[in-house]
Amino acid sequence: MFENLSERLSGVFDRLTKQGALSDEDVKTALREVRVALLEADVSLPVAREFVKTVQEKATGQAVTKSVTPGQQVVKIVHDALIDVLKGEGEPGSLKIDSPPAPILMVGLQGGGKTTTTAKLAKRMKDRDGKRVLMASLDVNRPAAMEQLAILGTQIGVDTLPIVKGESPVQIAKRAKTQAGLGGYDVYMLDTAGRLSIDEELMSQVEAVRDVANPRETLLVVDGLTGQDAVHTAENFDARIGISGVVLTRMDGDGRGGAALSMRAVTGKPIKFVGLGEKMDALETFEPERIAGRILGMGDIVALVEKAQETIEAEQAEKMMKRMAKGQFNMNDLKMQLEQMIKMGGMQGMMGMMPGMGKMAKQVEDAGFDDKILKQQIALIQSMTKKERANPALLQASRKKRIAKGAGMEVSDLNKLMKMHRQMSDMMKKMGKMGKGGMLKQAMK
Ligand code: GDP
Repeated sequence: MFENLSERLSGVFDRLTKQGALSDEDVKTALREVRVALLEADVSLPVAREFVKTVQEKATGQAVTKSVTPGQQVVKIVHDALIDVLKGEGEPGSLKIDSPPAPILMVGLQGGGKTTTTAKLAKRMKDRDGKRVLMASLDVNRPAAMEQLAILGTQIGVDTLPIVKGESPVQIAKRAKTQAGLGGYDVYMLDTAGRLSIDEELMSQVEAVRDVANPRETLLVVDGLTGQDAVHTAENFDARIGISGVVLTRMDGDGRGGAALSMRAVTGKPIKFVGLGEKMDALETFEPERIAGRILGMGDIVALVEKAQETIEAEQAEKMMKRMAKGQFNMNDLKMQLEQMIKMGGMQGMMGMMPGMGKMAKQVEDAGFDDKILKQQIALIQSMTKKERANPALLQASRKKRIAKGAGMEVSDLNKLMKMHRQMSDMMKKMGKMGKGGMLKQAMK
């Protein structure tokens, strides 16, 4: 779906990654090409501009990571920026379908893939989440559309609301709600009528349906091949109806894919799913990481840079160890340790990995120590001033009150943190006295 964009960008970055040192001029030239590639993929100008600006700022400010070329690093920055542009809140593909029967309103223009997507989504909820789903077509102007949904329903084994001639869309929506309640359905989906373009009649009809259904999700289905038009459609529907997410269809085609990049940035609404074909299972959750990977097609480089960044963290940790060995262990060090602990699977996980600390891990567990506490402790340290962090001896009564309050906690919590700091600091000093690797060597014996 992003072949062209992917090819263009690969070309730009290939040239970059081959060079040793990278000048600002190189980055600028590359980013100019990135901008052109984005525009060619039908990404809107403001979005392309903002994107390039972000990457430029990050690339300029970033220290060069050892063992990767600056060009590789730029690829990683672009990759992360792509994810930022694409990312919405919450889990990809998550829908608010608790509290049954949950109404989902499907809206969009005619031919965008609304009916097909309604059925695909119903199938997905049935198969993956074990939900009982009821589908209803509200397209009173096109009997064929109502029948199409009924046929799809039979195909995928999902119930559809029986067709009653002469009802208005609002009446059908009400009947669907009643039926969904009586029939014990978890979800009911309302497939609204589409028009070839946005008009007042369509909008007021959808609005009326929205008001009676009070949907948990309002999903706009748009044809991804229409690029910027898809984005404008989304803006219009959102302004009038209020949408909770977007489904981009026909992403299997050789479209330019730019709609995906602009959609989130322009409308602020997440793309929840993408349609990848006419078949009933051709629906995928929209995962920014995967899409960014597809756009760049440079997974190896991204992984390489991530690895190199981990190495840097390890180097930082080593520096800290050296300072600690000299008895210098302040609140900044403690904060870094706490953050590291969370990363490594919490206190127990980390102590379990350290030789000779298995017993301590057990005690920690018994004391009910978990990540929540680690995060609270980090919040306490963040509430300290720079000076206080560097010199915990400054922490007397009035300061303690302020710090605890700032973190939304009690002074007793802060006292516990300070006790832990003292104990760790003593332990570090002892470790230091044993000499380099002393403790580890002893523990291995
Ligand atoms: P509606 O008018 O918005 O309800 O559109 P339909 O659901 O009837 O879809 C119009 C056409 O687009 C149908 O032929 C679908 O099979 C096709 N279609 C829908 N989604 C996709 C998709 O993701 N990829 C492809 N290739 N075709 C799709």
